[in-house]
Amino acid sequence: MNMTEIKEVKELLSKPKKIVLVPHKNPDGDAIGASLAMYHFLEKKGHTVKIVTPNDYPAFLKWLPGIPEADYRFDLQNKQSKREISNAELIFVLDFNALHRVGDDMQKTLEAYGGTFIMIDHHQEPDDFAKYTYSDVSICSTCQMVYQFIDKLEELNLIDVHIATCLYTGIMTDTGSFRFSSTTSTTHRIIAELIDKGANNAIIHNNVYDTNSYGRLQLLGRSLSNLVVKDAYKTAYITLTQADLDEFGFQKGDTEGVVNYALSLEGIVFAAIFIEDVEQGIIKISFRSKGDFSVNEFARNHFNGGGHNNASGGRTEISLTETVQLFESILPKYEKQLLNSYEE
Ligand code: 5GP
Ligand code: MN
Repeated sequence: MNMTEIKEVKELLSKPKKIVLVPHKNPDGDAIGASLAMYHFLEKKGHTVKIVTPNDYPAFLKWLPGIPEADYRFDLQNKQSKREISNAELIFVLDFNALHRVGDDMQKTLEAYGGTFIMIDHHQEPDDFAKYTYSDVSICSTCQMVYQFIDKLEELNLIDVHIATCLYTGIMTDTGSFRFSSTTSTTHRIIAELIDKGANNAIIHNNVYDTNSYGRLQLLGRSLSNLVVKDAYKTAYITLTQADLDEFGFQKGDTEGVVNYALSLEGIVFAAIFIEDVEQGIIKISFRSKGDFSVNEFARNHFNGGGHNNASGGRTEISLTETVQLFESILPKYEKQLLNSYEE
């Protein structure tokens, strides 16, 4: 976004408007944090704001300020969601950059929308549907970008404890608690500001990471038992069948972060988790890497997905066994890259 565009956006936001905010499907802490932070910010500026969330979000995010009054669930409150979208004078898309990331039905609704989109996102290769695109793949999280967006509008003074809490949560979850290489000194400076504005770091960490259910920990145990290591390719992967999920009363968000255990093995630079979803008839996949092996390209090339260099996702519509066979059959093509990927 250049200076002219910032001026235009400032002008757009100078009078009260009906605004809709949209995170991606299966929203994570960054998508929900960014949406809620923008919700509180824009409401403070006098706008009428609604978040339209494609589907459910993890239980460990449901304590965030603004839930549930800020949002409609597109899957559950379909009519209200469609009405909000068609009546909106402005739509922000947050933490995604291609309309298919909201899922089929909602994608069609957004495609039919004739008004102005503003995108704030940090994923690679943004589609060209938004009038205003603030895209930067070098920034660790959309929540950090929302902070910088508010800064560009010269309105940091409006950041209160609610906004600070939402932004802190998104930055924390998207950086693996400030440990990924995308975490910079700027990130830490912004985090320090957010703490000064009232974000309670100890409580936020506790609410997100120390509220596991017994079933979730048991499922983690099963995930670790199912771990397969392919030393020859510095690769490790985890599989979870629908039966595994059912056995431990799977709740949305329960498998979040599990793939990182595979990546935490010494010498491993590439990790994947394959999760069976019988209802959708798909295998949902998460990829993670260390160093310069691009899981974004890997997911794009072979598993109908994408994301970032070190974190991406994808899916298949074949069985879990076939998916794993396919994955293993592709690995040899990447042997050189995997063995040479710099290990941090
Ligand atoms: P996760 O594995 O946590 O679901 O996703 C990791 C990263 O990859 C996130 O930044 C997410 O936005 C992106 N991602 C996950 N699934 C997909 C997908 O199917 N398509 C694309 N383009 N990106 C994805
Ligand atoms: Mn993000």
